[in-house]
Amino acid sequence: MNMGNTVAVALADVRARIEAAAIAARREVASVQLVAVSKFHPAESVEAALVAGQLVFGENRVQEAAGKFPELRTRYPDLRLHLIGGLQTNKAREAVRLADVIESLDRSALSDALAKAGDQEGRLPELLIEVNTGDEPQKFGVPREKADEFIRESRARFGERVRGLMCIPPAGEDPVPHFRFLRSLADEHGLPARSMGMSADFPVAIAEGATLVRVGTAIFGARPPG
Ligand SMILES: *Cc1c(COP(=O)(O)O)cnc(C)c1O
Repeated sequence: MNMGNTVAVALADVRARIEAAAIAARREVASVQLVAVSKFHPAESVEAALVAGQLVFGENRVQEAAGKFPELRTRYPDLRLHLIGGLQTNKAREAVRLADVIESLDRSALSDALAKAGDQEGRLPELLIEVNTGDEPQKFGVPREKADEFIRESRARFGERVRGLMCIPPAGEDPVPHFRFLRSLADEHGLPARSMGMSADFPVAIAEGATLVRVGTAIFGARPPG
């Protein structure tokens, strides 16, 4: 099998599992969007997924996304790019230029940088607030106890551009309590988008109310180390 076929087959399998999980949870299949996480994989793999009908992609590094996506966009204008990795303020302008959605808003300094970049570029991506549901040191995301205040502050500043919340549960822990926390926090704030679930746990995340699942390995295969 060539690489295009491999990606197409894996993508079809992931889509089937999303559909099954949605039906089992008595949810509309269309209420769950697949973000195909293509980090560390070449533009050819992204294109194989595009050919197979996938339009929404996730990357965690601005530089890497800048190298792959502008050219693909010229040929696939409906492509949508989500930036899902921790974002440095000095990358905000390029992130604003590239992304349709930034899933990793987590601090006021980044809000400042994004607001400024939005003014300069005349566009602002949709925003998700990343919550560090495990309160892990060294991890991106607003800590749990600061989340309410940061969500209010972000909505006051960006209004409807703030679409929802994102989390990455601690590795090796049961993700369900984290998914439930994120879901209830989004509900309390009336936010429609909940980005949670990756290759290992996206069916569980859908059962717990994910509206976006970020799936890399199950579509594109293992990433080269580093
Ligand atoms: C890499 C990554 C994913 C995808 O992880 P897989 O286990 O390969 O599906 C999802 N979300 C974020 C934030 C990532 O960095």
